[in-house]
Amino acid sequence: SPLVSLRGVKKTFANGTTALAGLDLGIRAGEFVSLLGPSGCGKSTALRILAGLMDASAGTVEWPGSGADADHRGEIGFVFQEPTLMPWANVADNVWLPLRLRGVSRKAAQGSIDECLDLVGLSGFHKSYPRELSGGMKMRVSIARALSLRPKLLLMDEPFAALDEITRFRLNDDLLHLQRDFGCTVVFVTHSVYESVYLSSRIVVMAARPGRVVAEIDVDAPRERD
Ligand code: ADP
Ligand code: ADP
Repeated sequence: SPLVSLRGVKKTFANGTTALAGLDLGIRAGEFVSLLGPSGCGKSTALRILAGLMDASAGTVEWPGSGADADHRGEIGFVFQEPTLMPWANVADNVWLPLRLRGVSRKAAQGSIDECLDLVGLSGFHKSYPRELSGGMKMRVSIARALSLRPKLLLMDEPFAALDEITRFRLNDDLLHLQRDFGCTVVFVTHSVYESVYLSSRIVVMAARPGRVVAEIDVDAPRERD
């Protein structure tokens, strides 16, 4: 059974725009799924509803492994297109934030902070400030922060869209290794066919008007490349 599913999810905004018109999507544990489709087809909306950041107008988000009232926010890491780091806090304190919000002291968090920065290739950057880092490195910190709660599910909303091509290729490679080492489930929103083929074990293609799934593609053995 899937880790989490969207069933018949519809979303109409206050201004009357329908972003999703009955989306069915099941995410299996351990898979790397890309949501691929043109701008405006409802990818971000689907991801936000999966994350519990936004309510659906109709339909349900189901976590078969737990009761209907369970809070899953602690099991989800979310990476936005912009790194959204706190400029006044150093790298380590930025990664600490989600743990801090759950009452974990800086001292108790140290091991997790070290591990997450190591996973994204930024050991030794604890005391750097966001303004001292390149765009790619800021994105790495943002990924480390999303991993700090050891999420089962990592949701990424066009995380590399604002980066130059070389940085983006590098981060794609590192993300593949990271997912294998960390062992989490990833849902990755992109409008890049290249990125979806390179990264995913499964591609879910969405189309606008109405926002829904039009194709699902199993990508063969994507992990054999390394
Ligand atoms: P994608 O991520 O595929 O680009 P989105 O989920 O961001 O698509 O948006 C889907 C549709 O919903 C678009 O037409 C967009 O303009 C619209 N939309 C998104 N957010 C809002 C909002 N808060 N209010 C009104 N319309 C919105
Ligand atoms: P990224 O792909 O991580 O954004 P960039 O190519 O933007 O990296 O790197 C900008 C500068 O930061 C380069 O001088 C690069 O050597 C340095 N840099 C990037 N990542 C690291 C790292 N993990 N350790 C040390 N230096 C790094």
